[in-house]
Amino acid sequence: MIAVENVSKTYSGQTALAPTTLALAPGRTTVLIGPSGCGKSTLLRLLIGLISPDSGTVTVGGEILTPQTVEKRRHEIGYVIQDGGLFPHLTAAQNVALLARFLGRSESGVQERITELSSLVQLPADALSRYPNNLSGGQRQRVGLMRALMLDPPLLLLDEPLGALDPITRSELQSQLKDIFARLEKTVVLVTHDMGEAAYFGDTIVLMRAGKIVQTGTLEDLLQRPAEKYVTDFIRAQRSPLPPMPEAASEERN
Ligand code: ADP
Repeated sequence: MIAVENVSKTYSGQTALAPTTLALAPGRTTVLIGPSGCGKSTLLRLLIGLISPDSGTVTVGGEILTPQTVEKRRHEIGYVIQDGGLFPHLTAAQNVALLARFLGRSESGVQERITELSSLVQLPADALSRYPNNLSGGQRQRVGLMRALMLDPPLLLLDEPLGALDPITRSELQSQLKDIFARLEKTVVLVTHDMGEAAYFGDTIVLMRAGKIVQTGTLEDLLQRPAEKYVTDFIRAQRSPLPPMPEAASEERN
């Protein structure tokens, strides 16, 4: 349902994305991973039509994205960025409802959907009337996710959605997000630079370097059948060994 073919992008003569071809499996989660500056966000922005490719095509729902088709298609794509990307002068509920109201959806339908989504993402009801500055980072991300899901798009793109969160909130949201993706059967593309997160979410992992895809496959493919040494080096570099945990106090006494 979404595919990129030979898509490339340069900025001031510098390659952000070399010609890239990728098909996204419907109803599954594809993770884009790689070091900072390797072109993950560029690829995501091309998928949603926020930027136009220098060459190649992005096809969404059988239709090539063009400046003419992008508006319509964008309603079929939910987009979540780091820290939610919410409008600070609108409450959480207003942020979530913005596009639906703009499109003239009925107020009762909007309210019903907000109630349904706040329950799905486990946002407390009192948070809906608050402004983004008065929400925690985790709550902002939940609101960002609600906004992305408001029109029930088949496709969900998330750009480092958990990057700004503390480890406890991050791990809690990780497991809730995974559950939500599975329940809603969305086609999901998630950008991260964290291999643990890629392994946790990715039905397919796309490892990138310097504007190119190095390998596309399952975690097992990357571990067992690395396309090149870089794959193994990247995975190994991310395994930060923790110091041994101290023995439990009771054990020490025994
Ligand atoms: P990632 O998401 O993997 O960190 P990006 O896709 O944001 O990487 O960036 C890829 C490359 O393109 C980087 O070298 C970045 O500096 C460059 N780039 C991205 N957006 C722009 C832009 N709007 N103007 C100029 N250069 C950009």
